[in-house]
Amino acid sequence: MPLYEYELCDGNCAACSGKFTLRRPVSAPELTACPACRKPVRKLISGFNTPSIMKPLSITDAKKAGFTVLKRVNKGEYERQ
Ligand SMILES: [Zn+2]
Repeated sequence: MPLYEYELCDGNCAACSGKFTLRRPVSAPELTACPACRKPVRKLISGFNTPSIMKPLSITDAKKAGFTVLKRVNKGEYERQ
C-alpha cells in the first residue's frame, strides 16, 4: 500500500501534530479529515525531489498561512520578503 502524507489545512492537532502519514490502499477514498481530530487535511505530494514545504500559490496566501516567504535573488541566496 502506498504511503501518503497529510497535513492539516489549518490549526493544530495534538494527536497527529498537524502532519501525519498513512498507509492506504489506492482504492480507498480520499482522506479529507484527520482520523484523530476530524479537522480538514490535505494530501502532500510526495516525490523524490519535492520540498517538504510546497511552493505556495501566492506570497499573500503563504504569509497568511504563516510561511516565511523567501525570494531567490541569486544562486544560493534568498531574500526575505
Ligand atoms: Zn489530527
